[in-house]
Amino acid sequence: MTLNQNRHDTQIAIIGGGISGLWLLNLLRNQGYHALLFEKDALGGQQTFASQGMIHGGLKYALGGFTTTASETIKDMPNVWRNCIEGKGDIDLSGLEILSEDYYLFSDAALSSKVTAFLASKSLKARIDTLDRKDFPSAFASTSFRGRLYRLQDIVLNTPALIEKLRNKYSRYIYQCAPIVQNHEGRITGLHLNENDTLRADRYIFAAGSGNAQLIQNTQLSQTSMQIRPLQQVMVKGNLPTIFAHAVSLKAGSKPRITFTSHPHPDGQTVWYLGGNLAEEGVGKDPIDLIEDTKKELAALLPWIDLTDTSWATLNVDRAEPSQNTHARPDFPFVEAKDNAMVCWPTKLTLCPMLGDQVLEKLSTAQFTRHEETLLQLPTVQIAKTPWELAFD
Ligand SMILES: Cc1cc2nc3c(=O)[nH]c(=O)nc-3n(C[C@H](O)[C@H](O)[C@H](O)COP(=O)(O)OP(=O)(O)OC[C@H]3O[C@@H](n4cnc5c(N)ncnc54)[C@H](O)[C@@H]3O)c2cc1C
Repeated sequence: MTLNQNRHDTQIAIIGGGISGLWLLNLLRNQGYHALLFEKDALGGQQTFASQGMIHGGLKYALGGFTTTASETIKDMPNVWRNCIEGKGDIDLSGLEILSEDYYLFSDAALSSKVTAFLASKSLKARIDTLDRKDFPSAFASTSFRGRLYRLQDIVLNTPALIEKLRNKYSRYIYQCAPIVQNHEGRITGLHLNENDTLRADRYIFAAGSGNAQLIQNTQLSQTSMQIRPLQQVMVKGNLPTIFAHAVSLKAGSKPRITFTSHPHPDGQTVWYLGGNLAEEGVGKDPIDLIEDTKKELAALLPWIDLTDTSWATLNVDRAEPSQNTHARPDFPFVEAKDNAMVCWPTKLTLCPMLGDQVLEKLSTAQFTRHEETLLQLPTVQIAKTPWELAFD
């Protein structure tokens, strides 16, 4: 550090501008903390925009025919988010565009009688409706569709609109920067922002998704390690009807075979963004082969939809999460506090409100210095492009 550096102070420094960092910035500033956020590239550009934007109610984790820790942890989340969208939650998301108020589950063939009975059971009554043909969404109105259709309580958010909303209220506290974390004997002593500026905070929050691994390694603060679970998602663009649904097939066992979400492309066409088992099994496949396999599966699942004039692409992306013994999907958001640092992974966009509660709880016993609000002379940061804007430029 040179002598003529500008030394700034704040209460909380957040590293990472995906959903978790931006959620925490809004939550903490709403609570009166002086918090600043640093994003190295563009807001939302990693897992957040690669996500399908679904706010899960957990039904997809119960397709084995029984509820699980995952399905129970998450079941209230659609209501928590709806409250925020109605302006009644911890974060004000009023007016946020929802891509779909409804999410469906359809089967290509009769489901096993065990799963069918479970889906119709009293315990799931508030979470799922079996639909009559007259209530089918238009994409399934064809008489060629002979499977069953259920409506779940999940909603689908427009993630760029979500990130824009979370950015707007506190945009002057968000900076483009990849800070170098300075530490001494296991305690963070400051952030080196650039050759002129350093920042000292009472608390430092790592909310950098897969970037947390490097931050943890550089600072040696946490015993925690990160796991990544890769996916190869498929994108199809054309004049397509919107589909928001899990395709469930006996072939995929207790996991959705294909998870469909539909997103507007700036050119006016619709992009189907396809995940689920298809994307898990797609890892390592040549994109051309994965696209060919997907075309065959869609032709079998939705034979009435014409896919002749469509463009195709795939996206390789990793989910970044705290390591689990079995490398399985974690059921809860993760927050670890050590000295003046915290490491966070929401594990699902859906679980950010729970992540926020955990962070607030851990901060409630911390001591904060009172000083003037700091505004830094650093570049502002843009919102990233979506994977389908990049793929179909
Ligand atoms: C294909 C896919 C589909 C998914 N679908 C869903 C879904 O439908 N519903 C759901 O609930 N969840 C879903 N998820 C999970 C969800 O996307 C993630 O849990 C969530 O987006 C993680 O957000 P984050 O802010 O922690 O990480 P990210 O969105 O990855 O953001 C981390 C940010 O930190 C920045 N950064 C990294 N290192 C540094 C550094 N050193 N300095 C400054 N900035 C840094 C990065 O540039 C990035 O912008 C999905 C995930 C994937 C991959």
